[in-house]
Amino acid sequence: MNGGHRISKTAEAAVIGGGPAGLVSALALTAAGIDTLIIASPRQEDFRTTAFLAGSVTALTTLGVWESCRSHAAPLAAIRIIDDTRRLWRAPEVHFAAAEVGLDSFGHNIENRYLIAALQDRAAKLNIARIGAPALSVVPDRDEVSVRFANGGVRARLVVGADGQHSLCRAAAGIGSHRYTYPQAALTLNLTQARGHHDTATEFHTETGPFTLVPLPGRRSSLVCVLDPQRAAHAAAMADAELANELERRAHSLIGQMSVEPGRGMFPLVVETARSVAGNRIALVGEAAHVIPPIGAQGLNLGLRDAATLAEIMADARRRGLDIGSPAVLACYERQRRADVTGRKIAVDLLNRSLLSDFLPVHGARALSLFLVDRIGPLRRALMREGVSPAASQPRLMRGEML
Ligand SMILES: Cc1cc2nc3c(=O)[nH]c(=O)nc-3n(C[C@H](O)[C@H](O)[C@H](O)COP(=O)(O)OP(=O)(O)OC[C@H]3O[C@@H](n4cnc5c(N)ncnc54)[C@H](O)[C@@H]3O)c2cc1C
Repeated sequence: MNGGHRISKTAEAAVIGGGPAGLVSALALTAAGIDTLIIASPRQEDFRTTAFLAGSVTALTTLGVWESCRSHAAPLAAIRIIDDTRRLWRAPEVHFAAAEVGLDSFGHNIENRYLIAALQDRAAKLNIARIGAPALSVVPDRDEVSVRFANGGVRARLVVGADGQHSLCRAAAGIGSHRYTYPQAALTLNLTQARGHHDTATEFHTETGPFTLVPLPGRRSSLVCVLDPQRAAHAAAMADAELANELERRAHSLIGQMSVEPGRGMFPLVVETARSVAGNRIALVGEAAHVIPPIGAQGLNLGLRDAATLAEIMADARRRGLDIGSPAVLACYERQRRADVTGRKIAVDLLNRSLLSDFLPVHGARALSLFLVDRIGPLRRALMREGVSPAASQPRLMRGEML
């Protein structure tokens, strides 16, 4: 899109950020009939994977994206939680099987690079205009928002802030946030393995945080290994063979010998919540609105529910002839996202802190909760259903309906 000449455009909605939350927002808004463009900085390589729960897969299918993702994604037919702490009160191993709630799988795991490529292809097919440069300023006014980039500007009635952590859009909307960095970092990589994974994700709970293996197609898995920052840096600096041995030891040889693929990532563990998800003609989606630690695959699933809910509200506003950036319409978005975002954040934060805590009763409570989940079938099934289709948020796209 960027030539040498200056660009001056108007659109009904401008999405800022070309990560997964931004791209899905742009596709969903376009599906809602809203004239949308994307302003996106070039992305850094991302070797991570995303475990999508069933509702997210349904939304991507409805938006015409999943077809290109399918062959790169592995189903998650079961999830196993193993207490690998060496503490006095340890929980039993808990096994969640999708078949128990009548599903083939809880969702699918896909490498982010394939996901982003599929989303970008779909956006290009739908002729969604893309400015490939960072937004330098975002200035909301009474009737529209002005966004400036190096060689031009855009005016829109609504800006979707999908610009991740340290969001320029959130600052422009005047929305504060609460941020806490845990004494933990996640080492991420993908690996090939000697034994099959049987479509089962395994989360070992250790004293430094979870060690999670999630299936990829074939004999491959993605790993998220949460450690204290020094140990994470030490592990990240190991040679491939040494690291593979260390990881096999941590995985109790569950999937046999491993071989580490190129592309390691390191992410400090953070929880951050914006005080509001919308204001001043700016709606926040994805990590611009909430960052949670990578436990139980919640982060981007929440981001997709933001995007799906926002597009649904905008489609309804459009049908009623309302201004899509008006305070009343944005207040509706705020109301519909609050419970889901707060609920997930509290659950993930509690689970993470219970692992780090040295306080014996906390270990007892965690062990007891997992014991009850293991023994009481209806409780386990209710948890699985809540995981797959959260009661607090069921936007149309996630039920397979168009906007
Ligand atoms: C180790 C790890 C594992 C995870 N695993 C899972 C999982 O299994 N399942 C799950 O649901 N979630 C998972 N998550 C969470 C998930 O990765 C995030 O929720 C997701 O990446 C957030 O996407 P986003 O689009 O909001 O932000 P980002 O991916 O950060 O994208 C924001 C984009 O905006 C761009 N940008 C920033 N500023 C500007 C600007 N001024 N102008 C234009 N563009 C700008 C950036 O360049 C970037 O490309 C995991 C997270 C981590 C750390």
